[in-house]
Amino acid sequence: MYYSNAENFKGTTGYIIDDVWYPRVTSIINIKSKPALYYFYAELPSFRHGEDIKKQSADEGTKVHEAVQAILTGQEPEIDPTVLPAVTAFRKYLAENNIQVDPDFIEKRVVSFNERYAGTIDALALIDGRFGILDIKTSQAIYRDYNLQTAAYFPPLQEHFKNLQTRWILRIDQRERCLKCGSTRRTKGGREKIKRPVNNKIKGVNSTNCLHEWSEMTGEIELKEFPYWQDDYQAFLGAKKLWEWEHDYWLKQIGYL
Ligand SMILES: [Zn+2]
Repeated sequence: MYYSNAENFKGTTGYIIDDVWYPRVTSIINIKSKPALYYFYAELPSFRHGEDIKKQSADEGTKVHEAVQAILTGQEPEIDPTVLPAVTAFRKYLAENNIQVDPDFIEKRVVSFNERYAGTIDALALIDGRFGILDIKTSQAIYRDYNLQTAAYFPPLQEHFKNLQTRWILRIDQRERCLKCGSTRRTKGGREKIKRPVNNKIKGVNSTNCLHEWSEMTGEIELKEFPYWQDDYQAFLGAKKLWEWEHDYWLKQIGYL
């Protein structure tokens, strides 16, 4: 990553809160290598292509986040048709499950004054009587890396909320399903990915040469709880140390180190 000057570095990687600069949790976590990204880029004609897909995919994620946060605060937002199946599935999930959210703690800034970093939580929620951090993802699966992020929010939030117990990832996604072979098709950032069923043969139809017949786009919701945050938090602090080492030139320039 290239930074043109100290202001550019500060703006790209952190927040200023009460005149003090703090590195962002998501910037820090980026120090961890993501081998899956090599495969992603390798399948594309150019690096630029990959950047465009990531950008568009992030925009789609933002649309889902905004819609979900509005719904959680009791509003009736207008939903962009491209994310409607996912948001509709979320509404249904919300109606069928015991989830309450404090409107004052949606998209809320969290600062660790002890360890000097800041981040933004999606929500604080009460789910089945347990109180915790709720983070929303629009990915095709729940990845372990997400736990670094929510662990970082835990200690600073716990100072304000002694009753903070747990954390969840709520995954909201949408895909089509082949009515003949069970393959799924997911379009993200303008790129389509077809996933064959694991055993490759459902109802005797081989998915390899199936002329797929796609269902309509259907939303899917997955909620997973990760109550044990301490090990993840230690890993986050390790990542932060490495991130500071990597950026010591700029961090010294701006007086952080
Ligand atoms: Zn098929």
